[in-house]
Amino acid sequence: MKIVIATHNQGKLREIRKILAGHEILSAEEAGFYEDVEETGTTFLENARLKAEAVCRATGLAALADDSGLCVDALGGAPGVYSARYSGGGAAENRKKLLKSLYGVKNRAAHFACAVCLVFPDGREITAEGATYGQILQEERGTGGFGYDSLFLSDDLGVSFAEAGEEEKNSVSHRGRALRALAKQL
Ligand code: IMP
Repeated sequence: MKIVIATHNQGKLREIRKILAGHEILSAEEAGFYEDVEETGTTFLENARLKAEAVCRATGLAALADDSGLCVDALGGAPGVYSARYSGGGAAENRKKLLKSLYGVKNRAAHFACAVCLVFPDGREITAEGATYGQILQEERGTGGFGYDSLFLSDDLGVSFAEAGEEEKNSVSHRGRALRALAKQL
């Protein structure tokens, strides 16, 4: 099946191509879609669905989108769907704000969550979710990854996501888990 991926992120594309091997995966650009869809939903699934529906409508092809974020227990699940926009600045500012918000806080438990939604031109959809658990570190560790990776000590791996290799991270990540659950339903 031909599936357009509603993302401009090359890392996500690589991971999705691996997990959905056997399907013809097109990037949004390859399908002629260059817009950024506004994430106005209040849940990961709502945002994933908004993006997938927009790309499916514009291209006439099945479209897959994901939405994800970091949920910190001591912050009542924040930054959650606002993870990318947490500080109003970039990823480094977001990490700085997170460390400041948790200064002196003992409970460092957190999880990354991801929702994926595949929308078909006839209106059908398949959805799946995934999560991965860990602790927010007191300071950054590792140089790989992106976003909050260097502050997230994975319970599964025993190292931060920024210290883990790409394959190692994908094997336990929220996105990897959501995508594999979706692939099973296909
Ligand atoms: P999106 O799903 O690409 O919109 O991601 C939302 C935001 O959540 C990103 O900008 C990151 O700040 C954060 N995030 C999501 N997944 C990860 C991850 O695997 N590692 C680190 N940060 C992540």
